[in-house]
This record gives sequence, structure tokens and C-alpha cells, in this order.
Amino acid sequence: MLFFGTRNRPSHFGPYPLERLPRDPSIKAVEARTPRRHDPGIAPAATDPLGAAARKYIDLYAAFADGDIAAGRAPVPDDPARRAVDVKGFAYFLDAAQVGIAEMVENAWLEGAIPRPHTHAVALLVAHGRTPESDNRAHAWCGASGHAAADMRACEIAVGLANYIRRLGWSARAHFPAKGEVDLDRLAVLAGVALRRLDGGSSNPYLGEAYSIAVVTTDYALATDEPIAAAARKARGVGYWLGLGGAVSGFEWRRRAHRASHLSRHPMETVKRVDRPTTLILDDEVPRVSKRAAFFDRARRGDLGEKAQREVRRFAYKSPTALSVTNLIDALVPHQDGPVAEPDKSDSNDPVENSRALKSLSYFLGAELTGICEIPEYAWYSHKSDGTPIAPYHRYAVVMLIDQGYDTMEGASGDDWISGLQSMRAYLRGAEISGVMAEHLRALGFPARPQTNRDSDVLQISLVLWAGLGELSRIGELVLNPFVGPRFKSVVMTTDMPLAVDKPIDFGLQTFCGNCYKCARECPCEAIPFGDKVMFNGYEIWKPDVERCSRYRITNAKGSACGRCMKTCPLNKVVTLDGPLYARVGCWLGIHARWLKPLLVPLATRIDDWLGNGRRLAVKKWWFDLEVIDGLSVEPAVGTNERDLDPAGRLNFDNQKIAYYPASAMPPPDADDEVYALERLAALAAAELVETPSAARQRAEAAGLRPAQYVATPPSR
Ligand code: SF4
Ligand code: SF4
Repeated sequence: MLFFGTRNRPSHFGPYPLERLPRDPSIKAVEARTPRRHDPGIAPAATDPLGAAARKYIDLYAAFADGDIAAGRAPVPDDPARRAVDVKGFAYFLDAAQVGIAEMVENAWLEGAIPRPHTHAVALLVAHGRTPESDNRAHAWCGASGHAAADMRACEIAVGLANYIRRLGWSARAHFPAKGEVDLDRLAVLAGVALRRLDGGSSNPYLGEAYSIAVVTTDYALATDEPIAAAARKARGVGYWLGLGGAVSGFEWRRRAHRASHLSRHPMETVKRVDRPTTLILDDEVPRVSKRAAFFDRARRGDLGEKAQREVRRFAYKSPTALSVTNLIDALVPHQDGPVAEPDKSDSNDPVENSRALKSLSYFLGAELTGICEIPEYAWYSHKSDGTPIAPYHRYAVVMLIDQGYDTMEGASGDDWISGLQSMRAYLRGAEISGVMAEHLRALGFPARPQTNRDSDVLQISLVLWAGLGELSRIGELVLNPFVGPRFKSVVMTTDMPLAVDKPIDFGLQTFCGNCYKCARECPCEAIPFGDKVMFNGYEIWKPDVERCSRYRITNAKGSACGRCMKTCPLNKVVTLDGPLYARVGCWLGIHARWLKPLLVPLATRIDDWLGNGRRLAVKKWWFDLEVIDGLSVEPAVGTNERDLDPAGRLNFDNQKIAYYPASAMPPPDADDEVYALERLAALAAAELVETPSAARQRAEAAGLRPAQYVATPPSR
């Protein structure tokens, strides 16, 4: 809401003020009098590359539209209204624009479909992406596919939701354009998210006709909505423009619509650009490391012990919400690579135009922020998990950030039962956007590959820095952006398409994090350093204790994974027009009045505590705390983390011990079936070897030798 933000708006209300629309229950009787519709059948194959890529992903998701139901029912409340909060919250968290629920009616089944014993239908709308400007290369790419990309997103959300309801123990089936058994328009009208048009189609008071519909039918009893009245056609009144009730304001929707399509909704173009990242990187010294050295990989092999080895297989997917999208992520992995078409020589190869078009495409598909850089050799992993060497194969990285969702984060502790879905949603979205984009580029004749959380040949942190999307923060191996803070996951598409690159940014974060300790104070296992930055593997960094963080995330018994540092950071804010005024002013000062930072930061972090930012907001909690054990969704075995803020928490400047596992202490890259147990005592002792950034700079300038601990352990065979 303009000026006051969305703090009091329940998550299950969504971004549009549907609750303010007039309702007309008599529309149900009108709909009951019209006959069943014909099945529209399989849609004709898309002729454009982007439409074909979106269709391919819809087909991949469609395999999960229906499926097995959990053998027992979850202990959820009988109250249909509370269940509806959960179901709508899930769909809104996955970025549905509007969601409504109707009782299932006989004539909503298409002709020829055999009605299921489903009593309810959840109808959700996804807005079409904005077609890029006519002088933008992406205009031709996206123009024919506005509905295809939104169909894909609607399908993704509906399939995830149907999966979720089945995991709770009820029957559910997802229906989406040209792949379903129900009349989507009728159910959208009955569920109160669309109005009937004279030609039999539907329209929406806020989206016009630019939306895609998907529906989940189920026997899970839910509270229903009433159809919206015809008078709702004039819904864009003063309340809409001001965002009354905490909805996104009309002015904010208009601001977004008027930004150039290659710019994100955030004014990254106003942030100072610099030639190099604001933290020192000794390019000649950074070692290439293997995937085998990644801590989650090490946990899988047993390097962190038996418990971590057992739990790492489920830690992020042990809630029914997170598990519901995991199979979608898995389904995309085999399609990350594919044949490259013959290039169309008549096509433009202008790097500037190509970059502009790719950024527009990324925003059209739903990325939050996008930057482009050349890939330094050290950003490539040296070896795959099985020990196969990786030779760098693409020149450019299109780096995209996926917002992990402010509203849901506000309801969470950061390490409770929604944390897993927060990660998985962003990983799925990233895999989808980068995957469709790569399919599209390969069809145009350019090699391209998505680098996703499931299968990436590149380390993403340095690419986020070089692509100008953030600065390294105290959280350590996490880059922070001036507009979404630390609240994102990155995904990368690598390519050889000629591209113009972005420059790194400087928004004064080093001063901010140098004077703020909130993430370190709030970390449940003290993995974030209170001390100064050090040099680690050639990077200047606040080096976290990755072993402690990994162990906590993997074995967290009262929640799924952890993102508490991200949740409690004062820069985890909404700073668009729908954010609170103080956050917008603070963000502006942070970027444009840098000289004030030393004075403002200590004050800002105290005010942030005083405002209670970082606490859980009950109005934002839509989900049930459930754990999946042996395929059943049950009460969590040992409860739920109920953490709020600890403003008086100890700032452990003096006695904190950080374990360092530099490149020389990593397991051999080909140790795929051997256990290399962590040696914590040696890792603590490695603190002695760590250089300060100024000492490293001096040594490098004097052509001193690269430290021995920067040399990665060689293959054992
Ligand atoms: Fe600490 Fe959790 Fe952040 Fe790891 S993810 S550093 S355990 S708060
Ligand atoms: Fe930096 Fe403070 Fe955020 Fe930590 S909590 S990342 S120190 S701004």
C-alpha cells in the first residue's frame, strides 16, 4: 500500500484487492443454466521458439497433474476457512495473481470428461507478461507467446498445489489450458476471480483479458468465495490506486508497467557502477574447486557423519509444501542440455541489443533482477561430482535473481517448516526461467545452458558480483542487493551469444555490514563472523563457518533448512511503492547519501530492532507446520522453531571460532565413493594461515607467492 506497506495484509488476500469487490451469489444460478463446454482438445503446436519451449515445460509439469495420494490424512484443521488460507497462501506464494475457491458443479466438467468425486475447485489466475517494446529484439520473441509463458506458470502453480493437497491425503487434479477436464472460465467465474464476457469467455476487473487460468479440483473441503458482481468492472477507484487494505497500489502497478521492459521493477540503473567488485578478488589466485568440495555434496558422501548423510537427503524437502515442487525441479534437469539449431545468419548479432533483449525476456518470464557478465575461469567448477573435469565452455553468464518472497518471509522465523519451500520455489522458478530461455536461444542457433541448483557447472557467487547485482555481505558467501537485500536465490544461464556486460555495483554495503551485526547475532549456530573480513581462497570475505551452517541446515529438527540470516537482515525490505515509506527513504539514503552511512547504520539497525523487523508476523503465516515422515504428513516429531528477535543477544567479538576449509583441505575431486571426514581441529587451526585483505593486496602487488592453501587438492587417480 502506498506509504504504509503491506504489513497488516494477510498473505492469503494476494496482491489485488479482491476483498473489496462487490459479490453476486445469483451468478451461480445463471452459470448452472448453461450447458457443458466441449473439450478444446490439444492446442496446436507452437510455431515460435519461445512458445515451443514453454509448451515443452508445460508437458513436463503435466506428468504430475494427477498422481498418488498419501496413504493417510494430515492432521490439518477441519475448519474449511483455515484450510482455504493455507491453499490460497500456497498459490499466492508461487505467484498467482488472484485465487478463488468454488464448489464444484456438474457442468464445469467438459463434455466427454468423466466427473470425479471432487467437491471443490481452486481457480488461479496468472497475468500475462509485458510484451517488450517494438524496437526490442525480444518483441518478436515474446509477442506471440504472452499467453504461453503465463500458461506455463499457471500450470506450474496448479500442479504444485495439486501435489500438495495429495500429500495431505486428499485427491486433487490440476487442470490448465488445453490439458484438463474442466471449464476453466466457468470455475474462474464461480470462484470469484473473473466476470463472464458476452462471448462466453471471461475477464478480470484488474487484469482485463491478459491472464491465464488454471484450476485444481479436489475433495478437500474448503471455504468458498462468491462470484464477483458485474459492478466490479469499475473496480479501479481511489482505493485501488492507493492500495487500501495493503494491496499493491494502482500507482505501483502503473509504475512497473511504464518501466522499460529490459529494466527490472527496481531502479538498479540509479546505483553507482564500479570497475571491480567492492571486495578484493585476486583473480590470478582464486582456485577452481570441484563439486565434490561443496558442503552438501560432502554431507551426501558421509564427510559430515552419519546423521548429516541421512538427513541431507530430506532436509530441504521434509515438509509437504517443499516436497510438492521437488519433483517438478527434478523433471527439468534432463533438459538442461539440448541440440543447438543452425544460426539464422540474417539475425542481429549486436551485443548491446542482444543483452537488452535477453534482459527483457528474463523479466517477461518472471526474473526479479538480471545482470550479465563474462565468466572468469575460476567461476567454473574444476570437476563434476563424479570427478569428470569440466572445461569452461561458454563465455557469458546471464545472472538472474529470484526473490524468495517478502510476505511469506514475514510470517516465518527463517528456520521453521516453510523455509524449505522458500528455497525450492526459488530453485524451481530459476530452473524454469533459465531453462526456457536456454531452449529459446538454442533454437535461435546459440549454445546456451541453464545452471541450476540441481546441476550447475559454475559457482554463482562471483558471477552475481561481476554481473552488478550486489556486494558481498557479512552473511559471508551471500551477495546482497540494494533492493531485495539478501532475500533471493540466483540462477545462471551461460551462453556464447554475443552480449554486452554490466559492471559491478557499489552501494556502500561494506560500511553497512561493517557496522551491523544483526545476522551474526540472530544466527542459531553462530556461523556468521562478528569479526573483520579475511582473505579466503583469493576472495576478501566475512568468512562464515560453513561447516556449522551446513550442519544446522541439514539437521535442523524443528524446521526445514534455514534462512534466518536472510529473514532478520535490516535490508530484507520492500522498497518499491508498495513498501513502507521509511524503508523507501532508508533505501534511497543508503544508495545516494553514502557519506551518512557511518552515522546512520548503527541508528538504522537499532531502529530496525525497535520496529520489530525480523519478528514473525502472525497475519502472514498461511501454512501448516507439518513434517513428512515415511510418506505421510504428520505433526513435526520434535516441534517447530519459534524464534523471534533477540536484540539483547550477545555480540561475540572475542571468543568466536571460525573453521576454515581452504582449497588445500578439500577432498580430491574424484573421491566420489570415499569418505573424507571433516577435520574440524585442523580447520580451526587454519585460522592462523588467513591473511588480512591489506596484507594480501600488498603481497600481490609485490608479486609474492600465492598461499599454499589456495591450491586445490589434486585428483587421487
Ligand atoms: Fe546461520 Fe541459518 Fe544463516 Fe546458516 S543459514 S548462517 S545457520 S542463519
Ligand atoms: Fe549486513 Fe546487517 Fe544484513 Fe548482516 S544483517 S548482512 S551485517 S546488513
